[in-house]
Amino acid sequence: MQRVKLTEDLSLSRIVHGMWRLADWNFSNEKILSLIEHGMERGVTTYDHADIYGSYTCEEIFGNALSLKPSLREKMEIVTKCGIVVPSDNRPSHITHHYNTSKSHILKSVEQSLMNLKTDYIDLLLIHRPDPLMDPMETAEAFNQLKESGKVRYFGVSNFKKAQWDMLQSYLEYPLVTNQLELSAYNLENFEDGTINLCQEMGVAPMAWSPLAGGSIFEESNEKAVRLRQTLQIVKEEIGANGIDEVMYAWLLNHPAKIIPIVGSGKKERLDSAIASLNLSMQREQWFSILTSSMGHDIA
Ligand code: NAP
Repeated sequence: MQRVKLTEDLSLSRIVHGMWRLADWNFSNEKILSLIEHGMERGVTTYDHADIYGSYTCEEIFGNALSLKPSLREKMEIVTKCGIVVPSDNRPSHITHHYNTSKSHILKSVEQSLMNLKTDYIDLLLIHRPDPLMDPMETAEAFNQLKESGKVRYFGVSNFKKAQWDMLQSYLEYPLVTNQLELSAYNLENFEDGTINLCQEMGVAPMAWSPLAGGSIFEESNEKAVRLRQTLQIVKEEIGANGIDEVMYAWLLNHPAKIIPIVGSGKKERLDSAIASLNLSMQREQWFSILTSSMGHDIA
């Protein structure tokens, strides 16, 4: 498995396993452990979480499974996020969906994540979304405290555009190490608005959420999805992929920004497909045929 070095002593597996849908899978602890071991044996060592996933339950479900084999912890990298607050029976004190990047919220959220994940450190903490009320000085203070206490090793962001990235970065004494973005052949926004170029400029490998457009590429019947599926099917035959999912991954992996796709499925065979896509190379013309098929028009 390829690895992507984010800092001198933190690298992520090129394929990351995302835990957003973990609660929906309804797996026993044993089945989750078996899924983790399946991935780790193949080199998928990085797990993507957020405090809010599964209405604040996913981290704990994962932590419970991990406690069956605690020795796995030091062989994996745990990424988690904070900064979104959602109304939930599990957080009855909040009635409004909002963002919170205050020092106290970040510190409290990390404490909860550590408890839920049954670990004493988080490898990488991301601010989940840009917060219009972010006071970067406070956010930086929270980061410094977490770094000094050893509770969080490194920091990054998610869904940040350039101005938001620059503002937070300017208050930090150390570099943000990733920007987790929605990146797929179906959703081109971050390719088109310069956000991917920001990552390249900063020398930061972006993590790609919903690399298969959240599964909609397989189901949607709109014109764009039908058109893109047809093109993916053609390229699949040309490059010898097993499915259009592998072509979607390969499209991201063949971009020079060192994109790190996050797999959202709990099925071992889907994880295997993502891993298999690492061996697929795509010619420039094939890459562009997928791009223009998604855009719905030719390039200039
Ligand atoms: P995704 O891989 O784009 O979508 C996963 C969905 O696609 C699942 O429902 C899966 O169904 C379906 N799928 C996969 N392969 C399929 C196939 N061959 N045929 C039919 N359906 C297929 O990823 P995602 O779950 O949307 O996101 C991945 C991760 O990104 C999340 O777990 C989370 O960690 C992260 N994320 C981050 C943010 C953020 O704001 N930072 C936002 C969203 C997600 P099955 O379960 O049946 O396989």
